[in-house]
Amino acid sequence: MTLLLSHQASLDHLTPPGHPERPDRIRAVAKALGDPRFDALVRAEAPEGSLDHVSLCHDNHYIDELRHIAPASGLVYIDGDTSLSPGTWEAVMRGVGGAIAATDAVMKGEHANAFVATRPPGHHAESNKAMGFCFFDQVAIAARYAQRTYGIGRAAVVDFDVHHGNGTQEIFWADKSVMYCSTHQMPLFPGTGATQERGEHDTVVNAPLRDGDGGAKFRAAFDNLILPQLQKFSPELIIISAGFDAHRRDPLASLELDAADFGWVTRKLLDLADQTAGGRVVSVLEGGYDLQGLQESVAAHVTELMGKQAPI
Ligand SMILES: [Zn+2]
Repeated sequence: MTLLLSHQASLDHLTPPGHPERPDRIRAVAKALGDPRFDALVRAEAPEGSLDHVSLCHDNHYIDELRHIAPASGLVYIDGDTSLSPGTWEAVMRGVGGAIAATDAVMKGEHANAFVATRPPGHHAESNKAMGFCFFDQVAIAARYAQRTYGIGRAAVVDFDVHHGNGTQEIFWADKSVMYCSTHQMPLFPGTGATQERGEHDTVVNAPLRDGDGGAKFRAAFDNLILPQLQKFSPELIIISAGFDAHRRDPLASLELDAADFGWVTRKLLDLADQTAGGRVVSVLEGGYDLQGLQESVAAHVTELMGKQAPI
C-alpha cells in the first residue's frame, strides 16, 4: 500500500503575505487526502533529515550558511521569492527526512510506493544555492541516498512541475547514473530546460512546452520523448518531482493541464517502474499554487499510486 509522509512542521515555514507558496497548500493536500477513499493510505510523520543526507547533494558551506541565517523572528530574504522564517529549517529538514523515509520504505519493499506531502518544494535548489522557494533538493537527495544505501545503479527523477527543475539538473548534470527528465513551460522561471540541455552523458531529457499547450501535448511529450528515453535507461528506482502547477487553474503558469493529465502520467510512470524498477516509485510534492487545482491533482496522483497495491 502507498505510504504517505507528512509533518505539521510544513505549516510553520512562513512566507510573506500574498506569496503563492504558503501553508494553506499543505492544508489543501491534507483535505484532499482526508477523503474516505484515501483511508487505505498508510500515514506516517516525516522524520527529520540529517546533515549527512543533505550533504549528499549540497555543499557543506552552503548548508552551514543556510542553517545559521534562519531568523528568530520575522523573515530573512535570500532573493525576492525565497525567504526563511523561524520554522523554515525544521520544515525543510522534515521534507528531506520524508524523502529519505519514503526511499527506505520503498527500497526495503515495505511499501510499493510513497508520497511525500511536505513543503517548501526543492527542485530549484542547486548544490550551493537556494532559489525559487526552494532550499534543499529532496528528490536529488533521495536519488543519491538510494544509490549509496541500497546500491541502486540507475535512478531516474521525473519532474512534471510546470517549472524546470534547474537544481536537480545541475546536481546530476555530469552523472550518468541518474537520469533527469522534465516537462515544463518555456519561457518561464527559471529559464533553463531547453531541449539541447542534455547533460554530459545524455542523461538529461528536457521536453519544454509552450503556454497553452494543454494535456494532449503534455502526454505526447511523455509518449514520444520521455518514456522511451526512460525505458532505454531502465531505472531501478523512479522518483517523481510531483508539482501540480501545470494545472489550468494555477496562477503562476498557463500549461492548461487537468487533474486527469496528472493521473495519466502517474499511471505511465508506475507502468514503467513495474517493467524496470520492481514497481518502486517515490513521489515528492513540489509546486501547485491554486488550492482547488492542487487538491484535485493530488487526489488524481495518489489515486493512481494506490492502484498499485501488490507487494513487490
Ligand atoms: Zn513549479
